[in-house]
Amino acid sequence: MVTKIEWVRNSDGTQGKTWNPVTGCTKVSPGCKHCYAERMALRLRAMRQPNYVNGFKLTTHEHMLELPLSWKKPQMIFVNSMSDLFHEDVPLTFIQKVFDIMRRASWHTFQVLTKRSRRLLELDQEIDWPLNVWMGVSVENQDYTFRIEHLGQTRAHLKFLSLEPLLGPLSSLNLRGIGWVIVGGESGPYARPIKKEWVIVIRDQCLAANIPFFFKQWGGVRKKRTGRVLQDRTWDEMPYQKTRDALGRDVTEAGSMIIRDPQRPSLVSRN
Ligand code: SF4
Repeated sequence: MVTKIEWVRNSDGTQGKTWNPVTGCTKVSPGCKHCYAERMALRLRAMRQPNYVNGFKLTTHEHMLELPLSWKKPQMIFVNSMSDLFHEDVPLTFIQKVFDIMRRASWHTFQVLTKRSRRLLELDQEIDWPLNVWMGVSVENQDYTFRIEHLGQTRAHLKFLSLEPLLGPLSSLNLRGIGWVIVGGESGPYARPIKKEWVIVIRDQCLAANIPFFFKQWGGVRKKRTGRVLQDRTWDEMPYQKTRDALGRDVTEAGSMIIRDPQRPSLVSRN
């Protein structure tokens, strides 16, 4: 399903897709408090969507596994927008099946995001990491920066941070080995506030380390109104991405690098 999530973006500028072989989750930290997936799952259950008969209870969906293989156009695909792949109730065998599909669907790029960084690290050796998988952890405040340390110890090829919903300052991030940083404020009912200085401090750490920086949104109860401009511009940087066809061949066109940031030409040389 095509997503509106700003950072799930194809190299041609169109929006990518979500793929949910697992649905449902349980809360682990303050960032989960107003979980969008929970709200959505309960709504979808009320609408009698077959994959949501269990509401927000963790459920694996074998029949969803092969879906990306049927999408022929190379896509950016956010895996489990409605769950957490490394949730303790997702069997290792199922996680391995998800990774196997991602490997076979080599023309796509998959974004996997977890708050269960401990389990991610525990299972690292059991995972055959494909090149087309970007692995990220969510960090909402200083208390959860240990997730970055866990991610850093895995063998994932591209590692990224989602600092959303940003709930506090993150002044000295360990960005070693990190290929992309996303920041966003919380949105929706009861959204907790983000501070401009927190965003600037993170942006400046990315600038200093030459890491692509993506500012998703200020958030708030009306996120359209608050927008996503930071200091007179938007920040839409993404890692360099190769585009592959269904046979796995590199069909990246000249100039189709995903980083379109004329103000930071140095990033374009990443390869
Ligand atoms: S880990 Fe993610 S999906 Fe699970 S409850 Fe927290 S915010 Fe929601």
